[in-house]
Amino acid sequence: MLIHAGETVDPATGAVNYPIYQTATYQQREIGGTPPWEYSRTGNPTRAALERLMADLEGGARGLAFSSGMAAITAVLMLLDAGDEVIIPTNVYGGTYRVLEHVFTRFGISYRIVDTTRPGLLERSIGPATRMVLVESPANPLMSVTDLSAVAAVSRENGVLSVVDNTFMTPYLQRPLELGADIVVHSATKYLGGHSDVVAGIAVTATEELGERLAFIQNATGGILGPQDSFLLVRGIKTLGVRMERHQRSAQTIAEALASHPEVSHVFFPGLPSDPGYEVSRRQAAGPGAMISFELTAGHVVRRFFSALRMVALAESLGGVESLACHPATMTHASIPEELRRRVGITDGLIRLSVGIEDVQDILNDIEQAIAESRTV
Ligand code: PLP
Repeated sequence: MLIHAGETVDPATGAVNYPIYQTATYQQREIGGTPPWEYSRTGNPTRAALERLMADLEGGARGLAFSSGMAAITAVLMLLDAGDEVIIPTNVYGGTYRVLEHVFTRFGISYRIVDTTRPGLLERSIGPATRMVLVESPANPLMSVTDLSAVAAVSRENGVLSVVDNTFMTPYLQRPLELGADIVVHSATKYLGGHSDVVAGIAVTATEELGERLAFIQNATGGILGPQDSFLLVRGIKTLGVRMERHQRSAQTIAEALASHPEVSHVFFPGLPSDPGYEVSRRQAAGPGAMISFELTAGHVVRRFFSALRMVALAESLGGVESLACHPATMTHASIPEELRRRVGITDGLIRLSVGIEDVQDILNDIEQAIAESRTV
């Protein structure tokens, strides 16, 4: 499916890799006709190949590719009108919070933060202005798991759109549309691309009607993905399955090692039976993914941990073949006010790890020596 879904063979030549149509415009035969292609903001064959592929993989009606994950999320939020409210989880990617707090509120769209991991709370939180619920599961960076079928059911009963950011899972592990969601979004920069060499976003809609509305916004506002980057994503997705299997196997090994490490106080990973999201994650996903967060015990300086890493890179982003570590409080989630960060549990000691596909022992050795280096005594 990952290799043969969509239309990834060029129908014109049979080339097994869909070509990069590096063109802004297309010659038309006459005025007033309905040419298949007219301008590359509206549509480009390479982007269309990616969009069909993603629609197939997520089991949706329409896929749309954007210049970044935030461009995809922004386009989805543009389905709302002034006066509408969107519910987001307590644990959400900092950029999603930032675009709502600093951009959409200026256009009269409000947001409400709800702990969507608590069953029943979402239903009680939906108000007369609520039109959308946007959740992540597992959520960045605490890996908290939300029951996506429950969110979809409650949303549907209340006439609210349910949107799932599926970045951490990819359709290989979790397909939110099959669980009842209306729209799936991705930072395709992460596992879909898989090589930390492209910034991209994807939205897939359950229905053609929603797809039409979103395609209108995509064309009207213009945050589209270029043909070169669309090609790189199609190429990356061909190996998504083998990469995710390896990422995930190594993450399980590392999470278990960290959980039994005397200098680690807490591990956030839904693949551990002790994790509060373990059961729901097993029900709705084919695996826990490969993102782990953890905290060190007292007597460690987190700054030293990052400086001591030799192979694992201190970097924003995740989901690439190389292991990356980040400090959410000052990096990915710095745009969330300190007080809110604390309340949610994004502590200054939290370390987030994107487990790559290097030899798992090499990753573990690097983390263990960095933990040792970060001791104050
Ligand atoms: N959603 C999640 C869960 C993310 O982790 C990120 C980026 O880190 C985004 C959305 C935004 O994606 P992008 O950086 O491609 O704009």
